[in-house]
Amino acid sequence: MKTMMELAGIPVSPGIAIGPAHLVARGMPDAPHYCVTSDHREEEEVRLLLALEQSQQQIQAIHQTVTQQQTNPELLYILDAHRLILEDSMLREGTLGYVRKGFNAEWAVVRYLSEVIAVFQQMDDAYLREKRTDIEQVGKRLLNNLLGHGEDSVAGFPSPVILVSEEFTPSDTLLMKHETVLGFVTQRGGRTSHTAILAKSLSIPAVVGVRGATVRIEQGDQLVVDGVNGLLHVNPDRETLAQLTHKQERYHTFRNRLLESSIHPAATQDGHQILLNANIELCSDAVRAQKLGAAGVGLYRTEHLYMNRVTLPDEEELVRTFRQVVSAMNSLPVTIRTMDVGGEKQTKLFFKHRSHAGVNPALGMQGIRFCLRSERQVFFTQIRALLRVGSEGTVRILLPMISGVPELEEVLQMVERAKESLIRDGLNFDPDMAIGSMVEVPSAALCAEQLAEKVDFLSIGTNDLTQYTLAVDRLDESVAYLYEPGHPAVLRLIAIALAGGVAKGVPVSVCGEMAGDPKFAALLTGMGIDELSMTPGCLPLIRRTLRKMDYSQLTETAKYVLNGQTTQEVMGLLEEMLRQACGDEYIFH
Ligand code: PEP
Ligand code: MG
Repeated sequence: MKTMMELAGIPVSPGIAIGPAHLVARGMPDAPHYCVTSDHREEEEVRLLLALEQSQQQIQAIHQTVTQQQTNPELLYILDAHRLILEDSMLREGTLGYVRKGFNAEWAVVRYLSEVIAVFQQMDDAYLREKRTDIEQVGKRLLNNLLGHGEDSVAGFPSPVILVSEEFTPSDTLLMKHETVLGFVTQRGGRTSHTAILAKSLSIPAVVGVRGATVRIEQGDQLVVDGVNGLLHVNPDRETLAQLTHKQERYHTFRNRLLESSIHPAATQDGHQILLNANIELCSDAVRAQKLGAAGVGLYRTEHLYMNRVTLPDEEELVRTFRQVVSAMNSLPVTIRTMDVGGEKQTKLFFKHRSHAGVNPALGMQGIRFCLRSERQVFFTQIRALLRVGSEGTVRILLPMISGVPELEEVLQMVERAKESLIRDGLNFDPDMAIGSMVEVPSAALCAEQLAEKVDFLSIGTNDLTQYTLAVDRLDESVAYLYEPGHPAVLRLIAIALAGGVAKGVPVSVCGEMAGDPKFAALLTGMGIDELSMTPGCLPLIRRTLRKMDYSQLTETAKYVLNGQTTQEVMGLLEEMLRQACGDEYIFH
């Protein structure tokens, strides 16, 4: 009899998933350890060499498929890194060395790679931590091949499963075959973690921050992920399962209704129009955004172009990638954010040394600071590419982590120099490209009016604005209970930023996760924000919610809410407003 349990976590992607648990272990899988006598060592060497070859062939085969499909170019960089590790003579000689000493092949792999990983661990370095993940994944592949398991545990599982892990790394999520993933459960992570954003973009139910998940859940346990209420049911009894299956059916009906309403305009009952844009990371997200009726791309995060690779993208590659997104959006406007690396978005291309990563990365060399101080040339190349693509569609530049006017002025001067250089090179570009500033640092919100004087639009990044206003690391689950976008202080800063934009006649949008939450989308609309940008999967729900609302009532409620003394009071008012407007459907909001 399996143990029945109910575990609570943070709901980050709605829906109900029912299926068997598949635990994705960090580190190496268990492997048999035994000694090989000298007369069998040659056979063992051959076994190891064959596994190495098989692993290389698998990587090559995935590489070919990804190249043909052209949907996930980012995956190619990870695959290249894995190929380089597999081809490295140190790996070959290191593991063979152990076999020659009498270790069986699996043990030799575990022993050699554990030593390598231990060295990386000691260094406690952002660049090497990422490298360690690559080595672990290569090690898993090698072991699975030696053990006759075939593909590695993240990339392949024949039947649909619910994945359970401490946290998924960006490379894990790129390597997964999404069609066989029913749901995600992680032990770590918060509302804006990588798993959360990925699950939402794929519309796969997910609950994160489930304490003890990887210890308390066993391989094959029956799970029900309730991404609506943030609950995880482990081995539920028949009655509970029947209730949850019914909830799942109701959710599907609700979801279908949502998708059907994608063709209707995003407007309140009394006709107030709101621009609903999409946040994207990959070109494939743009295709999805189009299908879900996005008015444009409000935030294209370009960090991916610099992650999981060993060389920098040159200007031509950037132009090609941006062009793909612009053309996928069929001449709708696309706002491209310049690289926002640093903080939780560390990349081995730049952060080769701990000193680069900084003592406290979220407060250090990140976003625009990093572009202006550390990597000016890389930034300049990106600006040139953006200006060039601007001549082929409606493209806007968005600048991350701006904390004050001088940073903006420095960027604007750089943009002028980029234009001059493009003229010298005889290349087409958009001379009037709109430039906007993110408002995600409290100082930017407080100085929004001064910033608005220099730019064409403002975009409020509530993920970071919440983190910096409340001094709560957005990735640290131990303080996740304090991460409250509905905190009166955050709302007041949003109101100040909006007033700053309005004073200068500059449009203000919101592109943090708040925009994709029905309660906050309604509040922001009531506050006077007419442009929201969100994960594509959230577009149908936000459209349907706003279509049930009355704008004059929203503005009234917003006034009350902004006077709220505590987050609890704010959330209570918003929940009540939504319950009244959405009736039966409320439980899925
Ligand atoms: C934000 O901070 O709200 C934002 C949209 O940027 P990111 O989540 O990429 O930091
Ligand atoms: Mg941000």
